[in-house]
Amino acid sequence: MPTHQLIAKVLKNNALNESITVKGWVRTKRANKNVAFIAINDGSSLQSLQIVAEVAKFEDVLRRVTTGACIAVEGLLVPSQGKEQAVEVLANHIAVLGEADPESYPLQKKAHSLEFLREVAHLRMRTNTFGAIFRIRHALSFAVHQYFNDRGFFYLHTPIITASDAEGAGQMFRVTTLDLEHVPKTAEGKVDYTQDFFGRSTNLTVSGQLEAELGALGLGLVYTFGPTFRAENSNTTRHLAEFWMIEPEMAFYDINDNMDLAEDFVKYLISYVLEHCPEDMQFLDERFAKEEATKKAEERSAMGLLQRLHFVTKHSFERITYSQAIEILLNSSYHKKGKFVFPVQWGMDLQSEHERYLVEKHFEKPVIITGYPKEIKAFYMKQNPDGRTVAAMDVLFPGIGEIIGGSQREENLEKLSQRMQEMHVPQDVLWWYLETRKFGTCPHSGFGLGFERMMLFITGMGNIRDVIPFPRTPKNAEF
Ligand code: ATP
Ligand code: MN
Repeated sequence: MPTHQLIAKVLKNNALNESITVKGWVRTKRANKNVAFIAINDGSSLQSLQIVAEVAKFEDVLRRVTTGACIAVEGLLVPSQGKEQAVEVLANHIAVLGEADPESYPLQKKAHSLEFLREVAHLRMRTNTFGAIFRIRHALSFAVHQYFNDRGFFYLHTPIITASDAEGAGQMFRVTTLDLEHVPKTAEGKVDYTQDFFGRSTNLTVSGQLEAELGALGLGLVYTFGPTFRAENSNTTRHLAEFWMIEPEMAFYDINDNMDLAEDFVKYLISYVLEHCPEDMQFLDERFAKEEATKKAEERSAMGLLQRLHFVTKHSFERITYSQAIEILLNSSYHKKGKFVFPVQWGMDLQSEHERYLVEKHFEKPVIITGYPKEIKAFYMKQNPDGRTVAAMDVLFPGIGEIIGGSQREENLEKLSQRMQEMHVPQDVLWWYLETRKFGTCPHSGFGLGFERMMLFITGMGNIRDVIPFPRTPKNAEF
C-alpha cells in the first residue's frame, strides 16, 4: 500500500503535528521573500491542501513547482496561520513527479469556459467544477446499486451487441467485421450478412429492456445499468450518442406500482447525493447561482439548485393522463397566444416545449404523464381498455423535460403479437420475447432512467456533455 495519504482523509482526520506525505497537482503557487504557498489537489476532495515551503531551503525545486505540475510532499501537518484553511503542511521534502510547462499548460488560474474545457477533456478533471461533477457521478452510480440491492433487485448485465432494433427507440450503430472496401453481396445484390461475424446484421443496443423483461420473468426484480447507444443526429444539450441507462424491470408490478417506484427511486438518488456530497453540492449551488445571474429574468430558474433538489424530494410528483395534459395545454395562455412552435392536438407527441410548460409553468414540480396514444409509443406497452391509449408513463423534470420513460408491458400474447403486426415489428426475430408471453406470462412493468439526465438535474449543469467524462456526440469522439 502507498504511504501517502489522500487529502480528503488528511483534512478530515486533522492528525496535527504528525509527519505526512501527500501527492497531487499544483493549483496555485504564490511566494514572498521567505515562504512559498502551494495549493495542491489530488482529486479526493474539492479542497486543496496548502503546502508552506521555505524559499531558501527549496529554491531549486520551487522553480519547477508551477500550476499543473505533480508533486509529492512530506512534512508536518500544523494549524494554519492563514484564515482560508484550518491546517497546512510545513514542507520537509518536496519532489516534482511531473513538471508542467507554464507556457503551454492549458489550465491557467483564471476561470475557463465550459466550451473550452470540453476541448481539453483530457485535463478538465483537474478543475474544481469537473472534480465535483465526477465525484458526484460516482456517488450517484453507487446510489443506484445501493437502492436496488436494498430492495431485493438483481443487477442484470444485458448485451451491448444485439441483433434486433426491437424497440425502434432510435437510429442504431452497426457492428460489423465485414471489410467495408469489399462488402460481400447476395445474389440479389444486398449486403450478405451471413458472412458477418455473427452471421447476421448486428447493432449496438438502444435499450436493455427486452432482455431485462426475460430476467424479470424468472428472477422477479432486476435492473440493468449500462452503456446505451443512439445514432440520432440530434445535437441538443440533452442527447448523447453514448449514454448510460438504468432500467429496472419488475414482475407483478402494474403501472401504478411502476410510478411509485420511479418517484421513490429518483427521490432517493437526490437525497443520497445531498447527504454524501455536501461540499461538492454546495460548490455547484454557488456555480449555478452565478450562471443564473447572467440570464435574462424570464429565463432564470425560480429556485436555486439545492433549493430545487430539496423541493423535489419533499413534494409528491403530479400525476396526470396524456388527455389531461392536452387539455391543460389547450387552455393555456401560451397556446392561446400562439407561443408554442408545435400546435397542440390530441394524438401528437408532446414536444419539449409542451413538457416544460407543464412542469415549469403549470405545476411547478415534476409531473408523471400516463395513458399516451398507442400510435406514438412502442409496441410492447400494455393496451388500455379504451383501445386507443397504452399504460405508458413519462416522468418530466424542470429544466430537463423527459427524464424517465416507462410502461406496464403487454403480457397478453395475442394482443402483443397483433400490435407487432400492425407496427411491422418482425416477430420471427423476437421469437424469444414472445415465448415469455406463451409460457407463464404475468403482469410486469419497468422504466428507463437516463443516468446523464439525472446528473444534469442534480448538478445543475446545462449541457449533457459536461456530466459524462468523455462525451460522444455527432462528429465528436476525440478522447
Ligand atoms: P427523448 O424524447 O428525450 O429523446 P426518448 O423518448 O428517446 O427520449 P426513451 O427511449 O424512453 O427516451 O429512453 C429512456 C430514457 O433514456 C429517457 O427518458 C432519457 O432519460 C434517456 N435518454 C434517451 N435518449 C437519450 C440520449 N440520446 N442521451 C441521453 N439520455 C437519453
Ligand atoms: Mn430519443
